[in-house]
This record gives sequence, C-alpha cells and structure tokens, in this order.
Amino acid sequence: MSGASALPGGPGTVGAAMPVLRERGQRAVFCGLTSIVWLHRKVQDAFFLVVGSRTCAHLLQSAAGVMIFAEPRFATAIIEERDLAGLADANEELDRVVERLVARRPEIRLLFLVGSCPSEVIKLDLARAAARLSQRLSPAVRVLHYSGSGIETTFTQGEDACLAALVPEMPATTDRSLLVIGALAEVVEDQMRRLLTALGIGPLHFLPPRRAQDLAAVGPNTRFLLAQPFLGDAVRALEARGARRIPAPFPLGAEGTTLWLRAAAEAWGIGPARFREVTAMAERRAREGLLRIRDRLAGQRVFFFPDSQLEVPLARFLSRELGMVPLEVGTPYLHREHLAEELALLPAGTPLSEGQHLERQLDRCRAARPDLTVCGLGLANPLEAEGLATKWSIELVFTPIQGYEQAADLASLFARPLVRRDRLAV
Ligand code: SF4
Repeated sequence: MSGASALPGGPGTVGAAMPVLRERGQRAVFCGLTSIVWLHRKVQDAFFLVVGSRTCAHLLQSAAGVMIFAEPRFATAIIEERDLAGLADANEELDRVVERLVARRPEIRLLFLVGSCPSEVIKLDLARAAARLSQRLSPAVRVLHYSGSGIETTFTQGEDACLAALVPEMPATTDRSLLVIGALAEVVEDQMRRLLTALGIGPLHFLPPRRAQDLAAVGPNTRFLLAQPFLGDAVRALEARGARRIPAPFPLGAEGTTLWLRAAAEAWGIGPARFREVTAMAERRAREGLLRIRDRLAGQRVFFFPDSQLEVPLARFLSRELGMVPLEVGTPYLHREHLAEELALLPAGTPLSEGQHLERQLDRCRAARPDLTVCGLGLANPLEAEGLATKWSIELVFTPIQGYEQAADLASLFARPLVRRDRLAV
C-alpha cells in the first residue's frame, strides 16, 4: 500500500505565486482498490472483481470492515505466483471464476475486472480478458477493466480509473445536458438533483449512475460539473467525447455549494434573482449550522498530509468558513486546472505540497505542532501517541459531506477530535 521513488523534491508556484513544495519519496496512502468500498454501494447492479493477491483480498476486507454484508458486490480472484507458461491457465481460471459468479448472481449487469500490482497480475492482459468475457456474456453483462494497483493509483484515483473506464460505454448524443461527475452519497445526489432541477437546469445525469443501464449519453453539447477533485482521467475521456467542463469550486460548505451551483446556473443563463430564490434559504441554514461549530475551530491550525486529493477544497472551506489556519496543505497530485477556482480562494501564501516524502513531512508536522492533523489511517495512531489530534482523511470519502445540508456535518468531523481532547483534559 505504498510506493517509493528517489526523485528529490523541488519548489514551484501556482496561481498568485502560491508556493508549492514538490515531494517525491516514500508515501503512505491506500491504493485504488479501496475506492471499491464506496463504488460498489453506488452502482447497484455492478460487481467489482479484483484480480489480485491475498494482500489485496485482506485490504478490501479490512477497508470494507463492518460494511461487509451477506452478498457484497465485490470479491477477489486470487492469482497465485506462476511462470509465463502458467498464464494461459490463469486466463482460463479467470473465465471460470467470472462465469460461476455471473451464474450465481444474475442481477449483475456490469462487471469490472480490477487490476492490482502483484507481478503475476501485471502479466495478465485484463483488457483482452474483459473484451473476451464481454463478448461471451453480452448482452446480459458488460465486462470492463481498470487498474486499482498501488503502483499506479492512490485510493481516490481508483474511482477516477473506474469512471474513465465507463466513458467509452456512454452512448453518443448531440442533445444539451448537464452531467455531474464523481460518486456522491445518494442523499447528496438527491439534494443536488432537487436544487439543479428547481433552477431549471437539465436534462441532468450523474456519473456513476445508480444502475448500469442508466449510463448517460455524452457529446459536444454535454456540460459537466465535477463533484470530486480527483477525476483527471475521467475528465480527459469526457473531453475526448466533446463534453466541456464548467469551471467551479467544489460543493463543500455553504460557500462552495453556492459557487458550484452558480457556475451551472450561469452556464444555463439563469439570472441572479432566480438563483437566489432557489438557493438562499438552504444557504442561510447551512451558514447558521456552521456558526455553532466555528467557535471551536476558529484560529485552530490544521496540517494536511496528502491522501484523498480533497485537501485543497477542504482547506478552503476550513479557512474561509470556519476561520482555521492551514499550516500545510499536502495533496498526492495538484490538478492546477481543476483546482484553479479553489486555489484562488485559499488564504494568500498557504503552503502547498504535492506528492510525498513521508519522513520530511513528518518532521515539518512535528515542528509545527498543529492543533489538528488530517492524515491516513497509518499515520494517525503514531501521531496521536505523540500528542497530536488527528482526523482520518478516508472518513471524508465515506461520509456524505457535499452540499448545503451536509455543511455542518462536514465541519463537525473536524471539530470532533478537538472536542474529544477537551473532554479528556477536563
Ligand atoms: Fe497491496 Fe497492490 Fe493489492 Fe493494493 S493492489 S492491496 S497495493 S498488493
């Protein structure tokens, strides 16, 4: 679950000369397989078959943890070590596993073969396996593939790879429509749908869809809004189909949600009066909810280790709406174009870092003694033992955090570790 390279880091800048420290070295972040834990709940007639090792199976089991129920929509086909001559057998074995699975689970309409990093899996041609199986199982089941390998992906990039694999399957259209891309909790998706529809924006579709058969059509008149900041490959695939992105900050917090909705409203030519009519009350409620939590968070210094790629929008939300002070905002990859509107809203001079050199970053964190450290699971316990309050970044992708109604919940996630410490101190 970690990768390493020996390139030295170096400084750079973005936007209004914001310093960016580029780091290359050991990193501690989950691989892309982890995203299956939220994706399998989202697309209800899809199944994710990881082609991997026992380590991959263990990772999925422990990441899914309590969420495993009787018939989860994911599994691991374990490929044991074998030589090249054994590859034909591995392909036959994979076909047998898939056929057994599809026979046992007739509700499956879309099957993802998810690649991983063991060398015996890398030797398998999963693109060819997916094409072969798709032909055999069509039209009942479509088989696609992508990589969730720890060599190529961090945990949210697994979702990006999955969505990018879906784009070629989208039918072509020249109709005008709005596509929201990025997996959102259903409660959030429903709220966004209500608000966008009330504004008069549509037809409206979401990627990923709740059911494989509802995959939206795409073409030169499709405009899309990003709901998540880690979707570089999916965006490239959509743009190659002619769709155009609506630049906007991400819908985190009251302000972020308003700016995100407003970008869509402007693209649809909806005037400010109508926009206020639809959004004002929800925005006011969200701001009132944040006020209660602001008391505990204002002035607190926060340090982000690179993990989910949500770090920049979160730092913007925490600083502008809750008065927190970002000491360092680390992100595995800084997508300058998709984050341009976010970077413009960060406090001037906020230190950013891209990539990771774990030891150096730990040294900076220890020296800064932040009030709150946002980091991966592996770092949280040791840092807590050193007396630092931590927030697990992975929780932020499992929890509904986007939109007006979730703004206070999102703020509470950051307040909770501090409130717990207050209680322990008493
Ligand atoms: Fe580990 Fe690689 Fe499997 Fe991820 S894909 S669990 S990094 S072996």
